Amino acid sequence: MARHMALIAHADLRNRHYCDWIDFLSEAADWDAARIADFQLEQLRAVITFAYQRTPGYRGLFDEVGITPPSFKSFEDFRRLPFIDKELLRDHLDEFSTRIRGRSYVTTGGSTGIPFGFYRDPVAFGRELASKAHQYYRVGWKEGDRQLVFRGIPIKRPGQMQFYPRFNELRCSSYHLVPEQMEVFRRRALEYRPEWLRCYPSSGYLFAKFLQETKRSFPEIKGILCASENLYDYQKQLLRDVFGARVFSHYGHYEMAVLAGFCEHEDTYHVLPQYGYAELIDRDGNPVTQPGQVGEIVGTSFIQRATPFIRYRTRDFAVLKGWGCPACGRPYQVWERIDGRLQEFVITGTGRTIAMTAINMHDDIFDHVKQFQFYQEEKGKIVFRYIPKETCTEGIVSDMQRRLLVKFGDDVQLTMQPVDGIPLTKRGKHRFLIQKLSLDFPHD
Ligand SMILES: [Zn+2]
Repeated sequence: MARHMALIAHADLRNRHYCDWIDFLSEAADWDAARIADFQLEQLRAVITFAYQRTPGYRGLFDEVGITPPSFKSFEDFRRLPFIDKELLRDHLDEFSTRIRGRSYVTTGGSTGIPFGFYRDPVAFGRELASKAHQYYRVGWKEGDRQLVFRGIPIKRPGQMQFYPRFNELRCSSYHLVPEQMEVFRRRALEYRPEWLRCYPSSGYLFAKFLQETKRSFPEIKGILCASENLYDYQKQLLRDVFGARVFSHYGHYEMAVLAGFCEHEDTYHVLPQYGYAELIDRDGNPVTQPGQVGEIVGTSFIQRATPFIRYRTRDFAVLKGWGCPACGRPYQVWERIDGRLQEFVITGTGRTIAMTAINMHDDIFDHVKQFQFYQEEKGKIVFRYIPKETCTEGIVSDMQRRLLVKFGDDVQLTMQPVDGIPLTKRGKHRFLIQKLSLDFPHD
């Protein structure tokens, strides 16, 4: 069995787009600040020209401010372009997309509760995976390493886990992190001996807490790779204590405009300059320049062509640290931490804890609602508040309910509640979940 598994190459290494991008990123790894700026300006010009020629939506926006591809010269010109946001793409997707070959439609609710879909092309997806791998290399990960993964995907197998030889990974359900089930995962890990643990910080935290409280052993690992949620200090601390290994985190999103990860030495977010152009803006839309200042992350993707993202407001927030990391020497933009990514939980009837990130479905489930929000004030009972589109029929609502319940499990009672509006928080942010229960977790 073991020998047979070793013969199967890691699936990503058979993707040409992945391999080409891995090579490019390693060549570009020692670029200085001037070389990076040249590259970024050239990429901005390319993406602006492409979007102007191929999409009526961007052409209209750029014409309004009098910027056409031949007149685009500098970063100052770039900053004159208007922002785009989720609402604009939700309501005018086709005007902002191109009919590129092999594109696929993907959707995201994100942490903000504004569902919208866009198109992704296969080249971009390969480059996305390669960019993440490039960052993981910094902490010693490589394709084919054994990994135990907690995934927000229902696993319909005995033991709630499944081995995937193409990625040499053992996937465990993050919906079943109750003590009896975590003990099943732990025992399997003792045989499998993973080199890495890959998880949402919230899932890793629950598992680490279980190991700590029951004083049970776990095989020695090289590190913990966290994704999809902001990593909080209390989680990092516990993961480090329990596993005795480095905790690596990155910031990214489905739209593929910004990627930023830790380096070999420091737990700060190094913005990858070959992936996209990242800006932090204050509430008036001006660039954030002071270390310690919070700004909204605005991204322009260099890799997405099917639906280009140009000056896209993510509704995620980060704290600027500065330019250049003294520890590794990379002349990148560096963020101290990610702020305002909402990381929240619901509690099911039998006391299971589910991170809302796991409910962020990447299919067409929310296509017929304008906005939604989960609300909980009683264990096991969740209200799904939604603003319906005209296309939202009774049949669609019961289908949404059924599909959400597959994710939540049958110990949850889910009420579907159409509403006219969903209020923003004082800071003007959308909340994905209003949680009235006080949960037994430390808060930052
Ligand atoms: Zn660094």
